[in-house]
Amino acid sequence: MIDTKAIEEFLYDRELRVKYQENLIKQYENKTLVTVRINYPGVEKSNYITDDIVNIIYEEINTYYRKYIVYDRKYKNKEGIIGHFLFNIDFITVKRIMIEIEESHILGRCVDIDVYTYKDGEVIGISRSDLYKKSRKCFICDLEAKICSRAQSHTIEEIKKYFEEMYKLYKKKDHEAEQLSYGISQLALKAMISEVSTHPSFGLVSPVSNGSHKDMDYYTFLDSAVAIAPFIKTMAKIGYTYHKPILIFESIRKVGIQCEKGMFEATNNINTHKGMIFLMGICASAVAKVLYEEKSFDDIKDTIKEMVVNILDDFKNIHLKNNLTHGEKLYLNYGFTGIRGEVKNGLELVFDKILKEYENTTVKRNSFYTQILIHLMSEVEDSTIVYRKDIDTLRWVQNSAKELLLIGGVNTTEGQIKIKELEDEYIKNNISPGGCADLLAVSIFLMEIKDKYYN
Ligand SMILES: [Zn+2]
Repeated sequence: MIDTKAIEEFLYDRELRVKYQENLIKQYENKTLVTVRINYPGVEKSNYITDDIVNIIYEEINTYYRKYIVYDRKYKNKEGIIGHFLFNIDFITVKRIMIEIEESHILGRCVDIDVYTYKDGEVIGISRSDLYKKSRKCFICDLEAKICSRAQSHTIEEIKKYFEEMYKLYKKKDHEAEQLSYGISQLALKAMISEVSTHPSFGLVSPVSNGSHKDMDYYTFLDSAVAIAPFIKTMAKIGYTYHKPILIFESIRKVGIQCEKGMFEATNNINTHKGMIFLMGICASAVAKVLYEEKSFDDIKDTIKEMVVNILDDFKNIHLKNNLTHGEKLYLNYGFTGIRGEVKNGLELVFDKILKEYENTTVKRNSFYTQILIHLMSEVEDSTIVYRKDIDTLRWVQNSAKELLLIGGVNTTEGQIKIKELEDEYIKNNISPGGCADLLAVSIFLMEIKDKYYN
């Protein structure tokens, strides 16, 4: 039996939606409009699965393309859930992005993602053929989707079954992503706590000393690390995706900003882990990406490089800025690329030296971590040292750490005596190798990752 009232209501809502789209695209000039709807036959489009599918795709677009979105809205009518976005990039690029989602996301074939532009007083829909792309295939047989839908080749039961299966598959994968990102964030937390627990640590905060710091102690770092961990989980989950590394990085940066806020709230506005959030966020999401692709541990380095390929663009136009960060000031004054430079080269020092050299160590953990710290201090251009002191101090730190390594560091009595002397001198002179501390935590994190996922 045909329910004419339902059809009328459906057509009425569709007309309203089209009008709404027209108004939107006219109101915001030179923007590209994207509309997401469920790709489901008949007029009964809404059920908990179809609604959730549109919600998931809406979130997917918002998560990975937030940077380009100037407007977004979601509502429900007789067509099911409808999502609209306005992008501030050209319609060809946007169409390409949406085709990728339709083809790569597990639920991509369950939705229609339409792209529109406004030209000469007209709303124009962009089709796949405009991009010389093949038409969409039917999700049940291999014919063109249009042909099957016109001919109604498949029963509603068949289609319903496809949606249910895809939804189940997505839920399974999402559960996997949750578990994995939680596991990664736990190792990040363990690494951050291990770093601040390491002593002696040359002016850094540890359980036995506040080092060269007056406004924070060991417990401030525990507060901070615990506040950061959930955000690291979010960043890792964002990394567990088919999207390209560069997009993952753009997407985690806004989480990083929220994470900094969380840190400052937890520490009463003391900067304990700002650099750490940056480094650990990148590493955690790179690890997740590599695990998603089922690649090797060594691929993490290249993934990081791909993620941050444009990172030095951060320094463009900083001479015009009023409030410069530590890193920006050092770049302006000394050409220091600092932490950005470190990730730009894929944390070469950590991957190619630290992880390789200390792979089969028999030294117990606390001393082992102190030794890694000394090694890092001997090579890193630590901007925290320069910012608190000056370049000469940095050179002195590097040279004294090199000498310390030569006499054995933690492994000899001579080294242990020297460590004590140096630590006193650091504290007396208010030196703190904070950048090295972050890299120590990241080294510990990566060793833990290798142990858990690659052994
Ligand atoms: Zn078909």
